[in-house]
Amino acid sequence: MAELKLRVPQNVPGKFYVDKTCIYCDVCRDVAPTVFAEDKVNGWAYVFNQPKTEEELEAVREAMDACPTESIGDDGE
Ligand code: SF4
Repeated sequence: MAELKLRVPQNVPGKFYVDKTCIYCDVCRDVAPTVFAEDKVNGWAYVFNQPKTEEELEAVREAMDACPTESIGDDGE
């Protein structure tokens, strides 16, 4: 389960975020490319756009289920 206090700094404010337990497998970006981006320097993903449509929300939920390290949280502010 993702931890809010470990969220990576690039996440935009909002409900969804990636934390530092991310192993940079790129699954979330494959599933929800309009929400997740990659930080190649630090080797983690981050939320660059909070989901705004039902389709994006569904894709984020799918990414949360698929993330091997449960690094995507939905309890952000
Ligand atoms: S699916 Fe999880 S581990 Fe993989 S890049 Fe996304 S947040 Fe990181």
